[in-house]
Amino acid sequence: AKQRGKNQYVIYSDDMQTKSHEKIKMETSLRRAIDNNEFVLYYQPQIDIKSGDIKGAEALIRWMHPERGLVSPYEFIPLAEETGLIIQMDQWVLRTACMQNKSWQEKGLPPMRVAVNLSSQQFSKEYLAETVKAILEETGLEPKFLELEITETMTMDVEHTIPTLRQLHSLGVQISIDDFGTGYSSLNYLKKFSIDRLKIDQSFVRDIMTNSHDSDIVGTIIAMAHNLGLEVIAEGVEEKDQLRFLQYQKCNEVQGYYFSEPIPAEKFELHFQELQEK
Ligand code: C2E
Ligand code: CA
Ligand code: CA
Ligand code: CA
Repeated sequence: AKQRGKNQYVIYSDDMQTKSHEKIKMETSLRRAIDNNEFVLYYQPQIDIKSGDIKGAEALIRWMHPERGLVSPYEFIPLAEETGLIIQMDQWVLRTACMQNKSWQEKGLPPMRVAVNLSSQQFSKEYLAETVKAILEETGLEPKFLELEITETMTMDVEHTIPTLRQLHSLGVQISIDDFGTGYSSLNYLKKFSIDRLKIDQSFVRDIMTNSHDSDIVGTIIAMAHNLGLEVIAEGVEEKDQLRFLQYQKCNEVQGYYFSEPIPAEKFELHFQELQEK
């Protein structure tokens, strides 16, 4: 027990101790993972709903843990954010994804965007635009072939995010708002943020065919985005009926298991034709 003021004790349960112990272990192994290059990127195609062409690929990080195998980002991104390790990780992702896209173009694949998830903390950092610019120069990827995904969060530093997004946009990089509809006061920032695309969160897409609230919300988001001159991509499309509904609503692009799960780069390249012929 730990003393907290006068006669007040906070009891740490075994459970809490194990948790913080687990956390420390996890942090140590995350650091080691960065040093040992244990991360890989998987890519998931983003498909033009009209033509069926692949317009982009979202890069999604995986941790190849030496003992545990493939670890989901849901398990380590929160801790990486908490410890600041996310900065190194996101830079690695950015550089690797840009390099990969450039190399696909050099191999003759049709040019497309690569989309990278950046922690929302990064968008309030003054150096972000500089870093992105340097990585684009280093890899030789044209800015229009890079997209950055930002998720709105409660803790987002909006005041410092607005100028960063403006700088990034003027570099020619594309910006999308991820998980759109789940954040708070999304509408408030749509006009202030320099963005190109909204990504409708998969939680709305999931029940599109059975829940009329969700299908109304999706229809409304698409119409509103188009009125504002933004494109829309729907995430988490798993079924043909969902695809049809989104087609009818004039959604621009789709992404989801219906077309492909996120797959390793070699597989993406190998199956490029089939991925867009679904
Ligand atoms: P997100 O950016 O919203 O990514 C979408 C997640 O949905 C991915 O999970 C993807 O594999 C999954 N998904 C794709 N299609 C479907 C579908 O049809 N149905 C269902 N049920 N799920 C689908 P993943 O790869 O496990 O990534 C989880 C989250 O981790 C991401 O959510 C993103 O927030 C974060 N993340 C992933 N990679 C990175 C990264 O490189 N940097 C940062 N900062 N965050 C990342
Ligand atoms: Ca994303
Ligand atoms: Ca998302
Ligand atoms: Ca998400």
